[in-house]
Amino acid sequence: MPESDRYLYQGMILRIAVPSPLRRLFDYLPIADSGRATAYQPGQRVLVSFGRRKLVGVILEIATGSELKASRLKPIDSLLDKDPVFSEGLFRMLRWAINYYQHPPGEVLSTALPVKLRQAASVQQLVEIWQINSQAAAKAEQLLQRAPRQKALFDWLHKQGPAAPDRIVAAGFSRALLRQLQEKGLTQAVQQALSTSPWTTEGCVRQSDISLNDQQLTALEKITVGEKGFNCFLLEGVTGSGKTEVYMQAMARALKLGRQCLVLVPEIGLTPQTISRFEKRFKCPVVSLHSGLNDTERLQAWRQAHAGTAGIVIGTRSAVFTSLARPGLIVIDEEHDASFKQQDGFRYSARDLAVVRAREEGIGVILGSATPSLESLYNADRGRYQHLVMPQRSGSAASAPMRLVDIENQPVEGGFSEAALLAMDKHLQAGNQVLVFINRRGYAPVLHCQQCGWTAECDNCIAQLTVHAQPPGLHCHHCGKQESLPRACPNCASRQLGTLGLGTQQIESRLRDRFGDVPVLRIDRDSTRSRKNLQAMLDQINSGAPCLLLGTQMLAKGHHFPAITLVVIVDADSGLFSADFRGQELMAQTVTQVAGRAGRSEQAGEVLIQSRHCGHETLQSLIQLSYADFSRRLLAERKLTAMPPFAWLALLRCEARSAESGLQFLQQIAQQQQQLCQQFGLAIECLGPMPAPMEKRAGRFRSQLSFKSEQRAQLHELLARLLPDIDAMKTPAGLRWSLDIDPVDMI
Ligand code: ADP
Ligand code: ZN
Ligand code: ZN
Repeated sequence: MPESDRYLYQGMILRIAVPSPLRRLFDYLPIADSGRATAYQPGQRVLVSFGRRKLVGVILEIATGSELKASRLKPIDSLLDKDPVFSEGLFRMLRWAINYYQHPPGEVLSTALPVKLRQAASVQQLVEIWQINSQAAAKAEQLLQRAPRQKALFDWLHKQGPAAPDRIVAAGFSRALLRQLQEKGLTQAVQQALSTSPWTTEGCVRQSDISLNDQQLTALEKITVGEKGFNCFLLEGVTGSGKTEVYMQAMARALKLGRQCLVLVPEIGLTPQTISRFEKRFKCPVVSLHSGLNDTERLQAWRQAHAGTAGIVIGTRSAVFTSLARPGLIVIDEEHDASFKQQDGFRYSARDLAVVRAREEGIGVILGSATPSLESLYNADRGRYQHLVMPQRSGSAASAPMRLVDIENQPVEGGFSEAALLAMDKHLQAGNQVLVFINRRGYAPVLHCQQCGWTAECDNCIAQLTVHAQPPGLHCHHCGKQESLPRACPNCASRQLGTLGLGTQQIESRLRDRFGDVPVLRIDRDSTRSRKNLQAMLDQINSGAPCLLLGTQMLAKGHHFPAITLVVIVDADSGLFSADFRGQELMAQTVTQVAGRAGRSEQAGEVLIQSRHCGHETLQSLIQLSYADFSRRLLAERKLTAMPPFAWLALLRCEARSAESGLQFLQQIAQQQQQLCQQFGLAIECLGPMPAPMEKRAGRFRSQLSFKSEQRAQLHELLARLLPDIDAMKTPAGLRWSLDIDPVDMI
């Protein structure tokens, strides 16, 4: 049946994505009286009545009729934009994302907009302009007879034409005069779009005294920007090989063509140093989308990008949605980083979307990393990405050798082996800095009773509470709950409570005891809540004076601390026995990235890795091989086990008031899935339902069901058929479910 036969209503219909959890569009009529029916375009925002609410939606399609009858169709309240709010390539990427992630279209589009634009703010920046009221002008002579200053302003406006208040003030007139003229009806204010002009392409790049070495030049030559079409480059360069220099030179080429650059960095990589490194090199406007911006500042930044006045947009994951008038290049730094994946709501991968975006914009995209994800390496192997390799550090710095230190068979003092302590002494005495890495915040991960074995657990989660020393207390790192430290065991009343394991706070106090007057700087989420605090610590590190730097994952990325010559990894074992299939990949990336902080300038570096399982094959090969070789081995294993990137995963998560109700709900879905697979001949492996690795969090029971297929199209066909059924199922009160396509974190 042709589509038009299904239509009960014939005529122009706006199919609108409304911010709601429903996986569909809604039909509305255009407004009759607007007199510009042809002015409707997909991508414009509209204000609509939705139930009892007024919501801002986006036109996704314009149809010639509706399956609803005329009496059930409502007109939109108003059209908010003259032009689409999304640049063309971005809008195509968003349509792709709606389809790929099978997420409600209204939520996808509103995620892509800054908060103020979800609330009907204007896309253009409007400024107030004052002009004379021509109808009243004839009366001016008479009204202004006894007011020479007002008359002077009136004559000035008459001669100059409409002017902004600051220009009027600059010409020597006060705002009071302007108000007096307005009260007499002689002038009026109008809102006008701020005129926008792009940066000048000559001189937008400052001279740099760095000349690229051969491996950088070879990489740069391959990279295309601007109109050369879509190309994806995987820039695999060891830490300190000068990837950022390559990005900047490629960006310079785009900027000189008048094209904008979008740079995505990991959450903890967007430091003031990163931003200032770009600002120092380029003279065009650089907007940075960091978490410190308020909604108004975010809107301003977005407007500059949309209008084409910003040359460079730099931001974390959500910056991939920034509208760009003239895109020329996209850069994703540390492409392997897990923070590019959104972990709730619309669960997109900013890295994957950036590649799709570059394809839709027809431009180049660089994925850079010292430790590329297995997905990207596989894409390079298949010839989808061009693999650019920089195996050497730039300048005179050599890679630091790694050494394993067995802590199973020898005494450890405060977490450190004798060998590690001696090495720290040596490097500090030589006037250098030492980095100590431990990926656990707090004082200790466990509080336990030495009499009965009780451990402190969170009431809301199935998880142990972490002991904190500054200020003292027990914290749940999963739901945020905080309690005071008990004086005695709640189980047997014994006072012999002790801690197990080590966190950053405990290591900090041990280091202070041991190294006396050497400053110890702890960098973790607790100590860097204040930007000022972080800045003070970074300044101290950059001064180059000897110090002990102690930190978590936050230290592993992007920082360039030239005075560090020794890196000590306190405990490499947690990644060895992870239940997650990405555990080993993650461990290899972390160890390589942390080790990469050592010896980045002339001084040779050294890396010590403490472990209780020094004989473990993974650790051994990580030490003996480069990440490049190690990742090849991991890829071969993934192929054998048919796991990503050799297969595609989708994870259905469920949170419920009881463990049973969640599992039952997922069981129904599993049955439905089986039926669909039989009916349509789909090769899907279904795992579960089963409790999530973290069974209870924040008072809710968690379970999951996962689907795997070696054919992406088949997995997507299954989901497209299954989701309407799930949407239609009756869900028990308090049950919530969500779909995660290409999950990175199985917890
Ligand atoms: P990566 O991003 O690969 O870790 P960076 O681009 O941050 O490396 O470079 C590391 C350091 O080496 C920086 O201080 C940078 O200025 C310097 N550098 C990069 N390329 C060169 C070069 N060709 N000659 C001299 N110094 C360089
Ligand atoms: Zn006890
Ligand atoms: Zn908790």
